[in-house]
Amino acid sequence: MASIQSCLRESSRLENYSDTARLDAEILLCTAIEKDRAYLYTWPEKEISPEQLSRYQNFLTRREQGEPIAYITGYQEFWSLNLAVNPSTLIPRPETELLVELALELAGENKDKKTLLDLGTGTGAIALAIASERPQWQITALEKNPDALALAQSNQKTHKLDNVTLVLSDWFSALIEGEHRFDVIVANPPYIDKNDEHLSQGDVRFEPASALVAEQSGLDDLAHIVSVAPQFLKENGLLLVEHGYQQQQAVAELFKQHGYSDCFCKHDLAGQPRVSGGLVKPSKI
Ligand code: GLN
Repeated sequence: MASIQSCLRESSRLENYSDTARLDAEILLCTAIEKDRAYLYTWPEKEISPEQLSRYQNFLTRREQGEPIAYITGYQEFWSLNLAVNPSTLIPRPETELLVELALELAGENKDKKTLLDLGTGTGAIALAIASERPQWQITALEKNPDALALAQSNQKTHKLDNVTLVLSDWFSALIEGEHRFDVIVANPPYIDKNDEHLSQGDVRFEPASALVAEQSGLDDLAHIVSVAPQFLKENGLLLVEHGYQQQQAVAELFKQHGYSDCFCKHDLAGQPRVSGGLVKPSKI
């Protein structure tokens, strides 16, 4: 038998693998015993069952091997939505909330009834977060991986966000030019260079390369999106893309090449350039 307290002492096993060993152990124990963190603090002496203990031990071993907490628990919080996650797609990152924030700030109020397109939606994080804040907007979210699309659909169902349409599509491929035009297009595409050393370190090793890595020093998908988006934006439509902290200039150059106006780049909470945007003026359509 083991108490909650003694289980949590095992967090030391994670210290070489995680900067947040104690928190990781608490989350894994909560998942193993299906209780919240307040319970751990209220009942430190409580014994857990042998099944719960073996589940917890298994979670600790997976975490020691570097598997992200979100893949072990199956969930990640993003913009106050608890989203199901799995290895078919990226785990939503806090810095991506900047993209959501900017879309909400720049595209207007709920009553403005905007149309928004999210490219490569993955878990659905960006589209669902925006949908939760703007129930009157019509949101289309595209995803090329059928497993990720199914995950996004299940997240949509959980959060009952009926104003999102999820469609299988390789970037813009399912859209018809002239028929589909949006007020806003957002994307968090893969943007990491294939030789980036971070890809072989830590949690990111468990995430699919298809959601992380792009050719041309990580710029290939960004270039495709920036070049094609004007065909699917309305007059004065807004494109917002997330990118790597070293890609600000290259992305600004792409926006310029394709004739966007009022271009800008915003920094994330860590102070890194993270989201760039621009408008498509009538003459460019
Ligand atoms: N920001 C993520 C990372 O650095 C990458 C996300 C992406 O490629 N879109 O791990």
